Amino acid sequence: MPGTNLTREEARTRADLLHVDAYDIELDLSSAREGGTFRSTTVVRFTATTPGAASFIDLVAPSVEEIVLNGERLDTAGFADSRIALPGLAAENELRVVANCAYTNTGEGLHRFVDPVDGETYLYTQFEVPDARRVFANFEQPDLKAAFTFTVTAPAGWSVVSNSPTPEPQGEGDTRVWRFAPTGRISSYITALIAGPYVGVFDAYENGEQKVPLGIYCRPSLREFLDAEAIFEVTKQGFDYFQEKFDFPYPFPKYDQLFVPEFNAGAMENAGAVTLRDQYVFRSKVTDAAYEARAATILHELAHMWFGNLVTMEWWNDLWLNESFATYAEAVCQAEAPDSRWPNSWTTFANQMKTWAYRQDQLPSTHPIMADINDLEDVQVNFDGITYAKGASVLKQLVAYVGQDAFFEGVRAYFKRHAWGNTRLGDLLGALEEASGRDLKAWSAAWLETAGINVLRPALTLNGDGDIESFAVLQEAPALPAGAKGEAVLRPHRIAVGLYELTDGALVRTDRIELDVDGPRTEVPQLVGRHRPAVILLNDDDLSYAKVRLDEDSLAVVTEHLGGFTDALPRALCWASAWDMTRDGELAARDYLTLALSGLPRESDIGVVQSVHRQVKLALDAYADPAWREEGLARWAEAAEEALRAAEPGSDHQLAWARTLSGVARTDGQLGLLAGLLDGTAEIPGLAVDTELRWTLLNRLAATGRADEAGIAAELARDNTAAGQEHAASCRAARPTAEAKAAAWASVVESDELTNYVQASVIGGFQQADQRALVAPYAAKYFAAVKGVWETRSHEISQQIIVGLYPSLLVEQATLDATDAWLASADPAPALRRQVVEARAGVERALKAQAADRAAAQR
Ligand SMILES: [Zn+2]
Repeated sequence: MPGTNLTREEARTRADLLHVDAYDIELDLSSAREGGTFRSTTVVRFTATTPGAASFIDLVAPSVEEIVLNGERLDTAGFADSRIALPGLAAENELRVVANCAYTNTGEGLHRFVDPVDGETYLYTQFEVPDARRVFANFEQPDLKAAFTFTVTAPAGWSVVSNSPTPEPQGEGDTRVWRFAPTGRISSYITALIAGPYVGVFDAYENGEQKVPLGIYCRPSLREFLDAEAIFEVTKQGFDYFQEKFDFPYPFPKYDQLFVPEFNAGAMENAGAVTLRDQYVFRSKVTDAAYEARAATILHELAHMWFGNLVTMEWWNDLWLNESFATYAEAVCQAEAPDSRWPNSWTTFANQMKTWAYRQDQLPSTHPIMADINDLEDVQVNFDGITYAKGASVLKQLVAYVGQDAFFEGVRAYFKRHAWGNTRLGDLLGALEEASGRDLKAWSAAWLETAGINVLRPALTLNGDGDIESFAVLQEAPALPAGAKGEAVLRPHRIAVGLYELTDGALVRTDRIELDVDGPRTEVPQLVGRHRPAVILLNDDDLSYAKVRLDEDSLAVVTEHLGGFTDALPRALCWASAWDMTRDGELAARDYLTLALSGLPRESDIGVVQSVHRQVKLALDAYADPAWREEGLARWAEAAEEALRAAEPGSDHQLAWARTLSGVARTDGQLGLLAGLLDGTAEIPGLAVDTELRWTLLNRLAATGRADEAGIAAELARDNTAAGQEHAASCRAARPTAEAKAAAWASVVESDELTNYVQASVIGGFQQADQRALVAPYAAKYFAAVKGVWETRSHEISQQIIVGLYPSLLVEQATLDATDAWLASADPAPALRRQVVEARAGVERALKAQAADRAAAQR
């Protein structure tokens, strides 16, 4: 029984049989304010290479009213298992399907949201991977492209946006009809519809003769916070940069960006109608790192208009290529576009993408970048750190390997050759080989077809004068976890070695040597005979994808002077190396805290600062010896309060420290300060205690028993918005009582009433590192419930529960044993197994790191 799944084999068979010309889709959304279901009528014209053959079309809907194939009415019993059987196809076919489809509250399909501020209803679609079939019947696979024509009936006065430009609505009375022009030939997963009383701001991208209309939309309740100018500015920079690099004009008739509520991902690259999470419309002060992240997302989606939308993967096994390319493109555009506000984007890339990739690549579920995606269930759990971050890191390595000019020359040929079509990895590699003259088969085999991460270590000897006698780069094969797919291999790495001297506390690069590392030991003769510099940094400039270790002397200098690097990128690389060593138990959690406390005061990059704050908290909560943990947390909280009071008034650093203190405050004095900031009896000069910070403060007060239901209700009365309701739900679940935990658990696990966002907030509130005893009884309940959750909830909702409610806080052998017992007895589906095995790996790693921290204390 296929259920909602579709295998690669089935997709291939269907693509061999069918060619789809066009869809006419009529959606009647006049019931949107009431919810429930809506009428969806699809007429699709397609040909079949083998007349008489049978196939099927996909649909997920409560009911079907009519199925007419080539003028003949079929029994609606042919709709079963999320498919409509299509027997006896002709050479040319016309199929009409009338269905009642359902509005959702999970962020999948057609999401329906009511804004508590104005009581109005807001809709948007989210179709990747296979959810267009929740809105209209279609052949749901990326290589069956077609032209889509949408006709939408919706309440008068609404904004209705789709892939084609919004037409003037027709009709009178309570509803209007929007008849959109047909799209170009695109895949179903990038079609889109956004409807509701959204408000828009308009502009245009102009370049010579070319004029592309631009729109930005959000709910009216967010309009006062929408900084449309800044968003248009980044968007236009992206248009300039990508059109020049790709030598292909933007392929769609307009470009709208819509900030929508309760969005599961960062954004979605629907052709010409990008949806973005509306937390990107900032209601309160955020740091510059948030603006940078938003700009990166904007550029990422824009790059997809060419890579992904114009030229599309044939099947989901090349999802990695789609996402890696867009992720690489966002960073290179920020680094190189004239007037870019974030020319340091490679620092952010090292700090965030690489860290994500390294983490994911050491999980038991790690896999080669080129993943085997046998069906839709495989791809849905594969939007991971390998697909996005490792893939992008390896693309960066490829660009270093073939040269950036040759890389973009190959990309240009690829777009011209395959416009509006579908491709496989080989098509891109072929174009890059032609452009660069390099054979990429060995590169592809080493980097794309194997899993895991190499470690690079320096090996050097000095003479009595401190001159280098020998220097080599040692490469270790990945330590692949048991059960991981693929072989542990050494790889060719293009790396730079940076030499840094320490002068008046400043670490300045005095030389840089670039070389190819291959095999277990690569000599670096260029360094022989030189005087040993203060720091020797492997993989400087972050060209390759590898864990890097420092030699003992370099590590000593870095531990004391990390903040002394005058450039942000080597600082970020050293922070990453230290964090990585902490995760591996090579650096004790307490030593990582010491390093952070010495390095943070001189770290200017706010994105790095915020990452280190999160990592310190994780190190203390999970990797520190429990016997010492409270002492470490007390030190960290004290340092946070000091740094908050010392920070420049109104600065990003001040806000970052305020949030960090809110996460860790524990003494009466610290908690009193939070309460005082909230009720206005305390003040930190320059610190704006605005809507979001108020909730952050209240959350900690609730979790420590200093704010009760009345306090939460009062805050919600001040901020009775969707975001406010989510924060209130989180605060309630955070309270340190058995009743609060029971209520939170029941609302998530025993009911399916919560929306995707409220559920995520409740889970976040439930899991409090200071409340291990309170949440301990839920470990057994988790294993009793998790399989049922997986079987009955939507993909997004079940993933939140499986990952979010796993007993990660209980770093004990008993948690591993309980997980193993469940794995042995429950016989979970592969995608469910993967999520639980990944969560288990976190506990296993924490147990090892705790042992290392304990051993360090006894030194
Ligand atoms: Zn993407």
